[in-house]
Amino acid sequence: MISSHGYAAHESKKPLAPFSFERRDPRPHDVTIDIHYCGVCHSDLHQVRNEWGGSSFPMVPGHEIVGVVTHVGSSVQKFKKGDLVGVGCMVDSCRSCQSCDAGLEQYCENGFTGTYNGKDRQTKQNTFGGYSNNIVTDENFVLRISDRLAIENVAPLLCAGITTYSPLRHWGVSPGQEVAIVGLGGLGHMGVKFAHSFGAKVTVFTTSANKREDAIRLGADRVVVSRDQDAMSAEKNRFDFILNTVSAPHDINQFLGLLKRDGTMVCVGIPDKAPELQAFPLIVSRRALAGSLIGGIKETQEMLDYCAANNITSDCEIIPIQKINEAFERMLKADVKYRFVIDMKSLK
Ligand code: NAP
Ligand code: ZN
Ligand code: ZN
Repeated sequence: MISSHGYAAHESKKPLAPFSFERRDPRPHDVTIDIHYCGVCHSDLHQVRNEWGGSSFPMVPGHEIVGVVTHVGSSVQKFKKGDLVGVGCMVDSCRSCQSCDAGLEQYCENGFTGTYNGKDRQTKQNTFGGYSNNIVTDENFVLRISDRLAIENVAPLLCAGITTYSPLRHWGVSPGQEVAIVGLGGLGHMGVKFAHSFGAKVTVFTTSANKREDAIRLGADRVVVSRDQDAMSAEKNRFDFILNTVSAPHDINQFLGLLKRDGTMVCVGIPDKAPELQAFPLIVSRRALAGSLIGGIKETQEMLDYCAANNITSDCEIIPIQKINEAFERMLKADVKYRFVIDMKSLK
């Protein structure tokens, strides 16, 4: 076994604390990775607080991992010692259902294995994530990272990046379209960068008026404070596509009303309470409401390569792991600009 240490939640809603544990001995297809940075996703917070149910403890969160390969198993083809790599939200899937065959492992019909708070398919042991010094992962779920970008700013691409890139691509966001991004946090700020990069005219809807200038700097053309009812009314029927990244319960009907006829709102945020959905905003303009989950391994690599080619990374606040509980508290107050990333050197 490989000895590891990191930070874990030992029970729901309790602060994270130092934790030592063991990882499996690498199998023939495994790579061992020394973790350098790990982003802090709101999903980490939801799961530590057991807001979706099904959390198992102790839990080592973290699924925005970048680091360096320190060992490769005897059958590994894709990586070698010293490679710069990433691991996102998935470490395995059934690899034989229709979704897996289509490269859409996130929609694995038998359930993908989460990087943490999941169960290893062979040992049935809990998986532990990236708030730690190392990880052992099957090569098929490891991503190549370019050395052209600062790796600490690349880490959030492994979840926030792909979760916004994938729906913008799937729904064909293209030059000239009117696109809205709701919520300017970790996902939202990547959504702004990608939508802008794909040529759309981007409007940010935020509850935080003080994020206006940042939104413009990140690539938005317009900013609307969503608590301002008059400003909201002026936006009706404007948008081809809305990407809703809000992490907390809120009125989604008012955003549906901002879509054009045949427009689509995709929710990627996962509030702990179900939204109240009214039929009228949908039916009066044949609007659609949809969801989207991260992205497959192939598309995640495509997104990372796109970011390297187009110089796109996340805007981050780098923290030592000892500040993780404070970072969670700030994230709850929407006070993150725009992703916390843990520098794993602080663990040593
Ligand atoms: P985050 O950094 O905390 O950003 C969430 C943003 O939502 C906040 O910055 C805030 O933006 C807005 N917000 C918060 N509370 C609100 C409220 N009560 N009403 C309206 N807006 C509010 O979180 P994140 O890491 O981007 O994650 C966002 C959500 O996506 C989480 O629920 C997370 O679990 C989920 N997620 C889903 C996937 C997927 O595959 N679908 C992947 C990753 C994460 P403003 O200050 O601009 O209002
Ligand atoms: Zn995430
Ligand atoms: Zn599958």
